[in-house]
Amino acid sequence: MDVDLVVVGSGFFGLTVAERMANEHGARVLVVERRSHIGGNAYSEDEPTTGIEVHRYGAHLFHTSNERVWEYATRFTAFTGYVHRVYTTYRGEVFPMPINLGTINQFFRSAYGPDAARALVREQAAELDAVLAGREPANLDEKGVSLIGRPLYEAFIRDYTAKQWQTDPTELPASVISRLPVRYTYDNRYFNDAHEGLPVDGYTAWLERLADHPRIEVRLDTDFFDTSQPVHKDAVVGNVPVVYTGPVDRYFDYAEGELGWRTLDFEQEVLDVGDFQGTPVMNYADLAVPYTRIHEFRHFHPEREYPDDRTVIMREFSRFADRGDEPYYPVNTPADRARLLAYRGLTEREHDERGVYFGGRLGTYQYLDMHMAIGSALSMVDNRLAPRVRV
Ligand code: FAD
Ligand code: UDP
Repeated sequence: MDVDLVVVGSGFFGLTVAERMANEHGARVLVVERRSHIGGNAYSEDEPTTGIEVHRYGAHLFHTSNERVWEYATRFTAFTGYVHRVYTTYRGEVFPMPINLGTINQFFRSAYGPDAARALVREQAAELDAVLAGREPANLDEKGVSLIGRPLYEAFIRDYTAKQWQTDPTELPASVISRLPVRYTYDNRYFNDAHEGLPVDGYTAWLERLADHPRIEVRLDTDFFDTSQPVHKDAVVGNVPVVYTGPVDRYFDYAEGELGWRTLDFEQEVLDVGDFQGTPVMNYADLAVPYTRIHEFRHFHPEREYPDDRTVIMREFSRFADRGDEPYYPVNTPADRARLLAYRGLTEREHDERGVYFGGRLGTYQYLDMHMAIGSALSMVDNRLAPRVRV
């Protein structure tokens, strides 16, 4: 095969590796992609009847404090000034998320200042002091109560999390909600990062520019495990270095068992109204509402000329993934983490003996935001691939 590197998967991880290796290091890169489009889960397309950009695999908001990633991203796209804000509906009332002074005062029908609100939450969280006895919260349940106290936790986190994960919150890692800030100000920005925005001409245009290089070939509709294709695992591994960004358990034919994933079902609707909910994302905190949130895509791009009498919404439902489903969120129970450790042993051997590099969200079984996927791809190129891949 006349290439220096094969990349499996054309998400942000795979395309960043391909772009850097081709552009900076002169490598000829073949990218194989199972789907019929590039871009992995960040892919977006215009809904044909309205022209509204829809993120096919769930809403994607770009944000980062990593200057290197920001500099790299802005080589391929400009960003709008979009700032992400989310609201949540709880028992028929709308509250701002993430939890901030506005949420707290609305919830407790109060007018606390920052210190009084902190003192109240501290008092409510004190029930955990004896349990924790100085140690860090060990799971999502402990983390939630210690962060915001039980009343707020039970209203805004417990049941939403139950719908999103269908896993006992004592089995979920604390890190799942550490992503959500809690603020004792009225600042209701969803992210804390230095840079935030949406790609001016859409995600797919950005992703296409990453892949647009004469030394990069992308083969769509090509599953790396399909032996009827010319480029497949058995034909490639050991002969050419491979960067694999698909599910790590699948690579080893589930030898150490299946890693747990959540998948999402999206129900998309075009409505004959100009504005359905007045905001990009509305979460639903109550168990009785079967979906976790509704996205309304027009609000991601207020700067664009979209029709004023039609809108596109998407309801999001979460469930456990079977083998045939798209794996979206690693569940990461203790049993998963034990399996992952066993797979780590296998990936190290596969790397040392056959030149396979595992990366990205699926390849490392880690929840990675886009900026993290891009950042870790840049590091992999610098530290591991560029020195090893011979051109
Ligand atoms: P992916 O994008 O999943 O790409 C992997 C690619 O590998 C896929 O295209 C897949 O088809 C391909 N592949 C898998 N197996 C094979 C095979 N056998 N052969 C060939 N190809 C294969 N990040 C943010 O920063 N902000 C957000 O708001 C945000 N929202 C998200 C919402 C959802 C619902 C999800 C699931 C993720 C979200 N993310 C968000 C994370 C973001 O999608 C990831 O950071 C990014 O997609 C990671 O890129 P990746 O290349 O690792 O994986
Ligand atoms: N979460 C919650 N209530 C909310 C929003 C989030 O309980 O209204 C919890 C939930 O467990 C979720 C986690 O916080 O899985 C992370 O939320 P985020 O919005 O970052 O998740 P994502 O957009 O990745 O689905």
